[in-house]
Amino acid sequence: MLYIHFPFCKQKCIYCNFYSIASLQLKEAYWDALCKEMDMKKYYLPNNQIDTLYFGGGTPSLCTISELEKIINHLQISYPLNEGYEFTMECNPEQLTKAYLSDLKSLGINRLSIGVQSFNDEILKLLRRCHSGAQAVVAVENAAAAGFDNLSLDLIYDIAFRTAEMWRADLCQALSLPIGHLSCYSLTVEENTTLARKQAQGVLYQLDEAETERDYAILEEMTIQAGFEQYEISNFAKNGCISRHNSAYWNRKPYLGLGAAAHSFNGNSRKWNVADVRRYISGINAGQPDEETENLSLVNQYDEYVLLRLRTKWGVNLSEVADSFGEKYRNHLLTGLKTVNSAYYTLQNDILTLTYTGRLFADAIAMELMAMA
Ligand code: SF4
Repeated sequence: MLYIHFPFCKQKCIYCNFYSIASLQLKEAYWDALCKEMDMKKYYLPNNQIDTLYFGGGTPSLCTISELEKIINHLQISYPLNEGYEFTMECNPEQLTKAYLSDLKSLGINRLSIGVQSFNDEILKLLRRCHSGAQAVVAVENAAAAGFDNLSLDLIYDIAFRTAEMWRADLCQALSLPIGHLSCYSLTVEENTTLARKQAQGVLYQLDEAETERDYAILEEMTIQAGFEQYEISNFAKNGCISRHNSAYWNRKPYLGLGAAAHSFNGNSRKWNVADVRRYISGINAGQPDEETENLSLVNQYDEYVLLRLRTKWGVNLSEVADSFGEKYRNHLLTGLKTVNSAYYTLQNDILTLTYTGRLFADAIAMELMAMA
């Protein structure tokens, strides 16, 4: 798995805490550093074959086709792509013209993750997105017409002042489009965002628990009706369009992340590049990547496994827990489970999964089962 981070955006959305900057000034120097980092880290993954490739951001679709071509050509020198690899690029609707989409297809990109967030112009304006709802619809239709048959949309729910009817309208629009994948995230108020400042000033309020549960229930109901399967708490797919890249994260497969703020994982340790474009470029140019590493203890690895797998349809496999971490951890998990309401989970054939109600409390349930908590 290979992830490449494109840390540039036209402007900052009010809720965003991904690492990105609203300036394209350092783009050229950044592409050069990325290519150098590809060469430096080509031995990081135990088996250098790439099964999934993901361009995320920031806004990768701010790249020109020649910039993308340069990066893809360079990465193919050091990272052989497996037959049938999944190649996702995150895009914003306003950049998806017919010509751009056709060029993306020619570059071998076979999955687009389109950041729509809402089709309601009032909400888009509030979130400080750069596109309208109508532009988002046209972008998805153009992408399908260009031959992309694996399209994903991102939506945000839980937004202040959005009524249940407005949320239904957004979902109805999304589900009527030619998509096979939908990611829906609750609007989390992250520190140091404009959203957090607006809330602190009382300009925007946060939805209460009952409203969040209402939106979540609507989401479940409408995705099921549309034939989507919820394979992770925030992710829904149909027609085999499960994200192979994200599923590999949740299943703790090794991955290499390149670019500012990108994270990597090799099974035993995790490392991450500095979240600063200038420092990233100068570290790479000096031959000393500005990065930090954390070695993961057995407890850390077990906790990560529980936290990630509990969110998925694959669930926590108790035999796998015993085999990978030891019988002690399996017992710890079973003891923790006694404190969890039995309506929140099912345990069948050694596989622990959450029920619909349990999914609403996934993080709290994971805390009961983790070893460090
Ligand atoms: S476009 Fe995406 S990465 Fe950029 S500011 Fe908005 S949410 Fe963040």
